[in-house]
Amino acid sequence: MTYVITETCIDLKDATCVDVCPVDCIHTTDEDNQYYIDPEICIDCEACVFVCPVDAIFYDEDVPEDQKPFIKINLDYFAAKTDEERRTFRTRTERN
Ligand code: SF4
Ligand code: SF4
Repeated sequence: MTYVITETCIDLKDATCVDVCPVDCIHTTDEDNQYYIDPEICIDCEACVFVCPVDAIFYDEDVPEDQKPFIKINLDYFAAKTDEERRTFRTRTERN
């Protein structure tokens, strides 16, 4: 189980959650349009949930129905290891 960052983080990316995460498992790059939580590292402490100004973070079992695709998107972000995989990931997650 893990926490997941959903749609309202997109293009806001204020990084408030990063400052409170005790295990440094929330990441992005300049090329990515939101932050993501590494499910392998997250310790389910919930600290990030309380500081997010747009309520973007949910426990994976509690992600609202319309935000469920973000469970896989957070997973896939950390699964993409090569530059090509990262490019493919970004193309797939671009807003239309
Ligand atoms: S739940 Fe805790 S460990 Fe997981 S991303 Fe949030 S602050 Fe980090
Ligand atoms: S605090 Fe919320 S909006 Fe800010 S980077 Fe984290 S998830 Fe995104």
